Amino acid sequence: MRKAIYPGSFDPLTYGHLDIIKRSAEIFDELTVSILDNKMKTPLFSVEERVKMLEEATKEYPNVKIDSFSGLLIDYAKKKDVHVAIRGLRAITDFEYELQIAQTNQLLSHGELETMFLTTNLEYAYLSSSAVKEIAMFHGDLSMCVPEFIAKQMYEKYGH
Ligand code: ADP
Repeated sequence: MRKAIYPGSFDPLTYGHLDIIKRSAEIFDELTVSILDNKMKTPLFSVEERVKMLEEATKEYPNVKIDSFSGLLIDYAKKKDVHVAIRGLRAITDFEYELQIAQTNQLLSHGELETMFLTTNLEYAYLSSSAVKEIAMFHGDLSMCVPEFIAKQMYEKYGH
């Protein structure tokens, strides 16, 4: 069985992430979308909230599972016996950062963890979780960025 992990913060999940999820789920037999519980960041949504969000948004994909992890991706992948990590590339600005992470993971895992990059659908290339948060903060239109139920939760967080 071909398995992959798509790790990320997903704070919140955007249509860009969803596009990568949908396309990866067509390539792999089982895709685990896993939220990194990063203690260095203060997220807008708790890990539990993000798990629920992802479960709701991916319920139509039977081979997609939602999980969370903390610590190193290579340790988590080893525990789950998965050898491929998926990442999305939006623009050249993502490249340097992603390349560094991928090479570090390759080194630390002794070649056990490969990183596969999917390029963003151009329609969503402009989308980032931080831009989405800024739009929500000022009660802007989120309809092209995130599913409606997520937009609602974001407006609530910002007191709209
Ligand atoms: P982090 O970099 O904290 O893991 P994210 O949760 O924002 O952040 O992103 C997870 C993955 O999804 C990364 O590989 C990122 O490049 C990718 N990604 C983020 N936004 C988009 C988008 N609009 N289209 C495609 N991929 C994206």
